[in-house]
Amino acid sequence: LNLQRVDLVPVVAKVLEDIKGRAAVKSVTLMNHSPDLAVHADVNRLEQVLGNLVDNAIKYGRAKGTVTVGGRAAEGQVEVFVQDDGPGIPSEALERVFERFYRVDKARSREQGGTGLGLAIVKHLVQSHGGRVWATSEPGRGAVFSFVLPQAPGTA
Ligand code: ATP
Ligand code: MG
Repeated sequence: LNLQRVDLVPVVAKVLEDIKGRAAVKSVTLMNHSPDLAVHADVNRLEQVLGNLVDNAIKYGRAKGTVTVGGRAAEGQVEVFVQDDGPGIPSEALERVFERFYRVDKARSREQGGTGLGLAIVKHLVQSHGGRVWATSEPGRGAVFSFVLPQAPGTA
């Protein structure tokens, strides 16, 4: 890992810019509500984490929905979330989605063309920064994927 100070707002903007074509196909609105905070992270790995989560939020969220990236400071760490307003995830699957090849809806996921590795990679990358990642959902009202990373030194 090449750990550096990474400002959240521009890195989220870049990830959303890179994926906006895929969002447009589904008429999904992308919102950058990330806070003016900096993390201590490898910028390429952080882009990979955010890219995977936003890709999922678009793929498994609803057409004409909204995907929001936001966050907050949390005790020397920064919590970042990616929220959608799609069908969400049943409570019994919230932890299992991070397992390799696990899909909530096998037929639908296969149709979307994924391999089922994205969230396993996300978990590995976040943990390698000393952080953690988890999902919450109110079924029918969307899913929220959150992760914490260390705050950049001197920016607290
Ligand atoms: P890949 O990321 O390798 O292209 P994938 O998207 O199917 O494939 P993961 O990103 O690991 O795999 O996600 C695992 C499963 O979790 C998905 O197949 C889907 O069933 C579920 N899932 C992930 N994100 C969401 C979400 N935002 N809303 C609902 N279900 C989700
Ligand atoms: Mg995925």
